[in-house]
Amino acid sequence: MSKDSVYQQLRSHLTYLKLAAAAEALPGQLEEARTTKTSHTEFVEALLRIEVDATDQRRWNSRMQFANLPAPWTIADFDFGAQPSVDETMIRELATCSYLDDATNVLFIGPPGVGKTMLAIALGHAAIDAGHRVYYTTAADLAARCRKAAIEGRWEATMRFFSGPSVLIIDELGYLPMPAQDASALFQVIARRYLKGSVILTTNRGVASWGDIFTDTTIAAALLDRLLHRSVVFNIDGDSYRLRTHQAANHKRRPKGENSYHPNPTQGEEFR
Ligand code: ADP
Ligand code: MG
Repeated sequence: MSKDSVYQQLRSHLTYLKLAAAAEALPGQLEEARTTKTSHTEFVEALLRIEVDATDQRRWNSRMQFANLPAPWTIADFDFGAQPSVDETMIRELATCSYLDDATNVLFIGPPGVGKTMLAIALGHAAIDAGHRVYYTTAADLAARCRKAAIEGRWEATMRFFSGPSVLIIDELGYLPMPAQDASALFQVIARRYLKGSVILTTNRGVASWGDIFTDTTIAAALLDRLLHRSVVFNIDGDSYRLRTHQAANHKRRPKGENSYHPNPTQGEEFR
């Protein structure tokens, strides 16, 4: 066989095996191998590494798209200095994802604006980077999806969907009180994941006042039982980061001496 037809054969093997990135890189890699006198082993390794990297990138993209994260935040974006009530060592330990091995849950509890959603998303991001499937939802959306599924006869499929990912992020539990039907749906999602898959949950209500979120206190107790059994709990306090930056911006905007901005705690909501 001539050199040209061997080359054509090789290209068509790569295409047949759906190694598109390697096929595309082939001419350049051959040229490089010729000029740098690369060994056969090194050449094959370099060519296949291109395909492996492309596959990794494609899978990462698809995990990221599936995850539905509302922002691209990572741990590096979190200013630990501004939030001393968050144990940085513990967050960095969680970012290694070893808590996923025994389906440990992570709870972020605290008032609005202290970084609960940011930390939940950053941990989700770390899990995606480590190759895990993650899905983000708010508690209200989860409840609405389950309600709709019950009406449309897709209950079982929806329960399976929420059981699937290694990490399920449930954001903003407690901002709205949950009617019994929604609480029961949430309970079923949590119960199915119990000891099988981690839940990262954020809430503005301390565990002691979960009775206020759910009309049914038995459900609240059963939920907490499953969630807390194996869990890491962060109680975050301090001022809202949003209000702080808003306040700083206001100070800058106002002329010196006129310092009349006093954050009213009830105004926190409008910055959400
Ligand atoms: P929460 O979910 O507790 O209401 P968020 O996580 O949504 O708060 O944070 C509110 C805003 O403040 C976001 O824009 C977030 O990026 C920012 N923020 C909060 N805490 C920090 C922090 N420690 N470092 C950097 N940004 C922060
Ligand atoms: Mg939030």
